Amino acid sequence: MAAFCRGRHRLKSISGLQTSIRQLSGKFDYDVVVIGGGSGGLAFSKEAAQLGKKVAVLDYVEPSAKGTKWGLGGTCVNVGCIPKKLMHQAALLGTAIKDAQKYGWTIPSPVSHDWATMAAAVQGHVKSLNWGHRVQLQDKKVKYLNMKGSLVDEHTVKGVTARGKEMTVTTRNIVIATGGRPKHPTHVIGAVEHGITSDDIFWLKESPGKTLVVGASYVGLECAGFLTGIGLDTTIMVRSIALRGFDQQMSGMVTDYMEAYGTKFAWKCSPTKVERLPSGSLQVTWVNNSTKQEGRDTFDSVLWAVGRAPEAKQLNLEKVGVRLDEETGKIVVGPDEVTSVPSIYSIGDISQGRPELTPTAIQAGRLLARRLATDSKELMNYDNVATAVFTPLEYACVGLSEEDAEKKHGKDSIEVLHAFYKPLEFTVAERDASQCYIKAVCLRGGDQRILGLHFTGPSAGEVIQGFALGLQCGATYTHLLNTVGIHPTCAEELTKLNVTKRSGLDATVTGC
Ligand code: FAD
Ligand code: NDP
Repeated sequence: MAAFCRGRHRLKSISGLQTSIRQLSGKFDYDVVVIGGGSGGLAFSKEAAQLGKKVAVLDYVEPSAKGTKWGLGGTCVNVGCIPKKLMHQAALLGTAIKDAQKYGWTIPSPVSHDWATMAAAVQGHVKSLNWGHRVQLQDKKVKYLNMKGSLVDEHTVKGVTARGKEMTVTTRNIVIATGGRPKHPTHVIGAVEHGITSDDIFWLKESPGKTLVVGASYVGLECAGFLTGIGLDTTIMVRSIALRGFDQQMSGMVTDYMEAYGTKFAWKCSPTKVERLPSGSLQVTWVNNSTKQEGRDTFDSVLWAVGRAPEAKQLNLEKVGVRLDEETGKIVVGPDEVTSVPSIYSIGDISQGRPELTPTAIQAGRLLARRLATDSKELMNYDNVATAVFTPLEYACVGLSEEDAEKKHGKDSIEVLHAFYKPLEFTVAERDASQCYIKAVCLRGGDQRILGLHFTGPSAGEVIQGFALGLQCGATYTHLLNTVGIHPTCAEELTKLNVTKRSGLDATVTGC
């Protein structure tokens, strides 16, 4: 293959000659080449370039099975956090319209929601973020290559454009930040042909209509929540439990609220077949895992939210010696994000054992850039990372669940303080607050260090974010009680927790 040039880049053949020239001269095209321009890859690239490194980032979006594609920025910006939170906001506004009438607003009825208007506005915002990332890369002198990357050797990356043009670049270090993509349940007949995933839902031009959401973790519950909230007939199919890995009492609060809010739940059911009927509707057949009885219903859309698979298969990792976890297929990394090949690092969702969250990918990327570009030794602290589930009743937490605290410290060594509270805004609106609940899981002895905080209610993420700082600082139950609340807020209820679960006393907050 002939060598050719474009801009400042040497586009080369993948030949041993190039490798040996590089080895003789000891020079690389770049200090770091990043594969994947999502949360982690972009944060790394910008930080490393700012610290004086010569950086290139390859980002390439393989269209979804339905053909959906998007721009620079990765999952969070295009098909994750951002469009999800905006559609969640659309749903919350629907509830606010109902409340508003109790607060004196006259709302002409019937109130209706238009998917196309919401989707166009959300997609417009996402496109502005795509553009913003491109501009930032340019400003910081990071070379952006819209190419699919893979490894040639431990210092060489191959890029391929959508039109099939190839190039290779040499680099001192490589950072892999390719994230993951939604899975389809391949054992379900018709799953790929007739189903969509979170890679498609935010880019639909028309309403998905009556929707079956399969899977009951973050993605499934959040999507079902906003679909219900904008008035669509929505069912979640749960094969086992909801929000696996989260505190299960809190998970129950979230799903109980959703049921009351109008989301239907098909508990302990697994789909077996999806067929397109002549009418255009999708007929879904499922089996109840307990009774073994078959069920059937028709939907306009089926959304698979059955987990995500790492984007590692096409990177040529094993050939270069980068070790993958046998079970998950993710890249095995050390605490400094290094892979089994010393010049290659991996950050974000693609790395084994890391939380699949944007802020952890960003922070890990920035810290890695500082370690590679300066004499920094600071490692990413993955402990006590706070998170929120943006369901109709939001849930946020930091630290251990009650179950995990019991497992780690023993049931007798922990004290759980809890409260059922009523957000002030629910009172005039006459909204049911049965699932607005708070608990602090603390050590029982010594200084009663807080192990976990859990909150369901309005703006849960905003509430828990600040308290997460407390956990990083080793906050105790006494610190919590010595914190004076801001009145009248929901967050202040955390500072007033005084009923232990052990006491069996009524934990309902009364009075002001
Ligand atoms: P990604 O952001 O996935 O970026 C990887 C990039 O690499 C992509 O652009 C991909 O196209 C590209 N790529 C892959 N292979 C190649 C290749 N061979 N060559 C070149 N480019 C390649 N997290 C939160 O913290 N809060 C939330 O509210 C939240 N909501 C979410 C909602 C949904 C529906 C989903 C699916 C996820 C959500 N997440 C949320 C998780 C969050 O989006 C991810 O944890 C985060 O995006 C991971 O960042 P990353 O850099 O590891 O990978
Ligand atoms: P998860 O892997 O967390 O959950 C997958 C869900 O699908 C589980 O409920 C699982 O059930 C179910 N499932 C798996 N296979 C099948 C099947 N064949 N049939 C029926 N159900 C099935 O994946 P998600 O996609 O929800 O989330 C991925 C990650 O993305 C999360 O871990 C999170 O870190 C991140 N994220 C963060 C968000 C936030 O911060 N708010 C929002 C969305 C995603 P079972 O429990 O039985 O295995």
